[in-house]
Amino acid sequence: MKLNYLTQGLVNKNYRCSLLGHRFVETKKINIHFSEYQCDVCKLQATNDSRGQKITLTSKLKDINETLFYLNLKKQFISKFYFPKKEQ
Ligand SMILES: [Zn+2]
Repeated sequence: MKLNYLTQGLVNKNYRCSLLGHRFVETKKINIHFSEYQCDVCKLQATNDSRGQKITLTSKLKDINETLFYLNLKKQFISKFYFPKKEQ
C-alpha cells in the first residue's frame, strides 16, 4: 500500500492543483498580450487567450506563440534599425 502511494505521487500533485488551482510561473513573454506559463507543482504548461484567461498550452498553440514571438522580435528589430527615432 505504501508503494502504491509513492507511485501515485504525480496523480496526487495534479489532485492538489485541481483542488487549489495551479501555481503558474511565467516562463516566456511572447509580447505585451501573451505569455507562456508553467505550473510550479505539476509542470503543466499554459498560455493565455485573447481574453487573458489561462488555457492549456497545446503544440498548436505553442506554434502560434512561437510565430507571434518572432513576429514581435522582427517588429522590434525593424523599429529599432530601420525607423530610428529622429534626433532632436
Ligand atoms: Zn498544477
